[in-house]
Amino acid sequence: MDYPQTYYRQSLAETRARPALSGRHETGTLIIGGGLAGLTTALELARAGQSVTVIEAHRVGFGASGRNGGFVGPGYAAGDDTITRHAGTEGARRLWDLSVEGMEHIRQTIAALNMPGVVPETGVLSVRRHDDPGLKAARDQMARELNYHLDYLPTEELRSLLRSRRYFQALRDGNAFHIHPLNYLRGLAAEIERLGGTVFEQSPATEAHLAGPEKRVVTPGDPRRKGRADDRGLYRWPGAAPAPCHAADCHLCDAVRTRARSSRPSHRHAACRRRQPPRRRLLPFG
Ligand SMILES: Cc1cc2nc3c(=O)[nH]c(=O)nc-3n(C[C@H](O)[C@H](O)[C@H](O)COP(=O)(O)OP(=O)(O)OC[C@H]3O[C@@H](n4cnc5c(N)ncnc54)[C@H](O)[C@@H]3O)c2cc1C
Repeated sequence: MDYPQTYYRQSLAETRARPALSGRHETGTLIIGGGLAGLTTALELARAGQSVTVIEAHRVGFGASGRNGGFVGPGYAAGDDTITRHAGTEGARRLWDLSVEGMEHIRQTIAALNMPGVVPETGVLSVRRHDDPGLKAARDQMARELNYHLDYLPTEELRSLLRSRRYFQALRDGNAFHIHPLNYLRGLAAEIERLGGTVFEQSPATEAHLAGPEKRVVTPGDPRRKGRADDRGLYRWPGAAPAPCHAADCHLCDAVRTRARSSRPSHRHAACRRRQPPRRRLLPFG
């Protein structure tokens, strides 16, 4: 499938299609899924001189990564209070620092590669739709607990910046920025290729054979394929399911100790099961 009709597709800096995988291809590390997670991992492997291949079911950045809001800033989808409740104050601070590092990683990658069409715009406003005098206290708490500094904008100051009078107070993050995410992903793919890695498009993994030292993943080029695309265009192979996390050194599990984690050694922690090295199954990004 080609990209859906989005603004990002309409403003692509370049549109080069990559070949589909056909026949046999050997690689040191195979990454399934050419989204932000897969391509970032592949780039770091390529930078470290590893042999790496990405197979993407559709086009590079076809999934959420190539059609999201494009905001690059620190933090997580879960609120700060939730994270602190699970990880404790110190754990929450370390996770926050990790997310700031992630933001800086993207900023530096864009600058180092001079990617076409990514156009980072600095500054992100988080606006309130209702009068919220407590926002100033939230800013102070961020500074105190996370050593992260935001600007507080009272309602009149915010309204002097916006055409709409719908919004009230705001916090401005002068470190966060906005990018064209699809051009960013295509820039990552180009850099992976420049470093000797390979990126295949229109190449869904439909089967994985992971027992033994030599792993084998099948794409539609193989006549024995079994997998089928679901109605969202995602490919899964028969029997694939998230494996529980058994990793002794899972930093995320150390930081986020849920009740399920402490009472069941083989918990199914949503985030770390992506990170776990597969035993018998290959886990796709995304
Ligand atoms: C509406 C929306 C707005 C968002 N806005 C933001 C934002 O502003 N800032 C932000 O930081 N985050 C945002 N997010 C979250 C962010 O987009 C995701 O967290 C991130 O893109 C996930 O990246 P991923 O690589 O894990 O997944 P994906 O980008 O979904 O990548 C997975 C890839 O794997 C491919 N694939 C699937 N199955 C197979 C297979 N069997 N074989 C080969 N390939 C396969 C898919 O085609 C896809 O390209 C937003 C999310 C949404 C939905």
